[in-house]
Amino acid sequence: MNAEATPMNIMPDWLNALPPLRGKLMPDFVMGDICWFRVGGPADVVFMPADIDDLSAFLAALPEDVPLSVLGAGSNVLVRDGGIRGAVIRLGAAFGQVTQSGDDEMTAGAAALDVRVARAAADAALSGLSFYRGIPGSIGGAVAMNAGAYGGETGDVLVNVEWLDRKGEKHVSAVDELNLSYRHNGQQDFALYTSARFKAVRGDKAKIIAEMEEISDKREDSQPVKSRTGGSTFKNPDGADPEGLKAWKLIDAAGCRGLRVGDAQVSEQHCNFLINHGVATAQDLETLGETVRQRVLDHSGVTLHWEIKRMGEAHA
Ligand SMILES: Cc1cc2nc3c(=O)[nH]c(=O)nc-3n(C[C@H](O)[C@H](O)[C@H](O)COP(=O)(O)OP(=O)(O)OC[C@H]3O[C@@H](n4cnc5c(N)ncnc54)[C@H](O)[C@@H]3O)c2cc1C
Repeated sequence: MNAEATPMNIMPDWLNALPPLRGKLMPDFVMGDICWFRVGGPADVVFMPADIDDLSAFLAALPEDVPLSVLGAGSNVLVRDGGIRGAVIRLGAAFGQVTQSGDDEMTAGAAALDVRVARAAADAALSGLSFYRGIPGSIGGAVAMNAGAYGGETGDVLVNVEWLDRKGEKHVSAVDELNLSYRHNGQQDFALYTSARFKAVRGDKAKIIAEMEEISDKREDSQPVKSRTGGSTFKNPDGADPEGLKAWKLIDAAGCRGLRVGDAQVSEQHCNFLINHGVATAQDLETLGETVRQRVLDHSGVTLHWEIKRMGEAHA
């Protein structure tokens, strides 16, 4: 037997039974290569569809018992070292358009980065979307997480979303149907967001650009934005309430600032961020996060909940 595995002989059986697809099917794809933390084992298959019809055909043909996950820009996930069983969908350039729609609305594909939406709105002298300047994810991830910053969040500016269900059927939902709350999307069943429409208000272009620059400067000062991180690890216990309990304060008070497990560390700069200094494993990062949760519980009696989405298996 040939000792060198070819892509064909590591393909799961269900993959060979799919109809012809125009997008890229990538078996045994190492998730750490596309996630901010730079950790995570291989997914059985990552599919990058050529367009929405290709995606729909893939979903329609995918057997119901094959696990299915979605990845955006990978800025809020911790993929475990054993990787992800089944299929992972990652939207690429075909879902990256950002356009002005009507006088005061923007429409963005789910793969468009938040920052592009903020910039395009500024170029069109539309205000209200500047908060996206500081969030490094994609629009799909923003809808899935109700991402927000500096007093604005996705639910405040979203009009509606287009999405596909597990069988590849297309739907449109108004923002109210998503039951968005602080860093949470309450849509019950599997939904793969493909595009979103946002409302904005006419504004002064120079002022909007200045506001975005201020947001960018503030983040550089307060967050390890150039590190291998996943953003805020835990939700603030009182949600978006500006006067409420802050996860970082509880972590600091419990003595966890700078705490390390292997090459994983609680950021010295912003202690609700975990950092991979280079060779941390997903297990190091998860163990560190769980240690922080336990210490905060012991110290203040508050249970922190993960904001970062943990995906996949600990072992292959
Ligand atoms: C340095 C840094 C700073 C950050 N600052 C902020 C901040 O200020 N505010 C904030 O809210 N977040 C922040 N984050 C977290 C993160 O950027 C947001 O949660 C972002 O919205 C995640 O988008 P993503 O595309 O990276 O999603 P991913 O991390 O890839 O995925 C996150 C979740 O969204 C789901 N998802 C992604 N795309 C789709 C889709 N098309 N359809 C259905 N589900 C999908 C995934 O399945 C997963 O459950 C920060 C992260 C970093 C690294």
